[in-house]
Amino acid sequence: MQNKPRLLLHVCCAPCATYPIKLLQEEYEVELLFYNPNIQPEEEYQARLRETREYARNLGVKLHELDYDVDIWFRAMRGLEKEPEGGCRCEVCYRIRLGHTAQFAAANGFDKFTTTLSISPHKDTRMINKIGKMTEGMYMFDFYAADFKKDDGFKKSTQMSKESGLYRQNYCGCIYSRKEE
Ligand code: SF4
Repeated sequence: MQNKPRLLLHVCCAPCATYPIKLLQEEYEVELLFYNPNIQPEEEYQARLRETREYARNLGVKLHELDYDVDIWFRAMRGLEKEPEGGCRCEVCYRIRLGHTAQFAAANGFDKFTTTLSISPHKDTRMINKIGKMTEGMYMFDFYAADFKKDDGFKKSTQMSKESGLYRQNYCGCIYSRKEE
């Protein structure tokens, strides 16, 4: 039997990863990457990382982790603090996370990369995929343009998270999005 191509999935949190992992495993050998320096405060970052580790372990899926580059993230956000969710601040935030994912995928022999981010009804899928494609150009590497919220994807992920007893946060990640809740 022919081996499936290897795909690196950037995971923003365990609940958002549930349905995309299941869907992608039909076609790919999926591994996960946790790179989210946007999550504040650090206790919340640790909580989401712990939950992702446990979910990956239960599924038997390999999880890679990069550093919590919170200083780099805040530097990149200078002047964008007051942007509303979905605006320029998020665009820069996606670029940082997808850029690192593409770099890691290219350095570690994956065939494609993508992100769970498009599963959220609050996220602009077109913006995410545009950035993914741009990043693809920078690293000469294939981006899988997805819209995981399609076909009730978000509803399915909510159901799957409930079944697995996963913790689901009530804000996107950064302190600015927390204030908007
Ligand atoms: S709202 Fe979410 S996507 Fe936007 S900057 Fe904050 S953490 Fe990043």
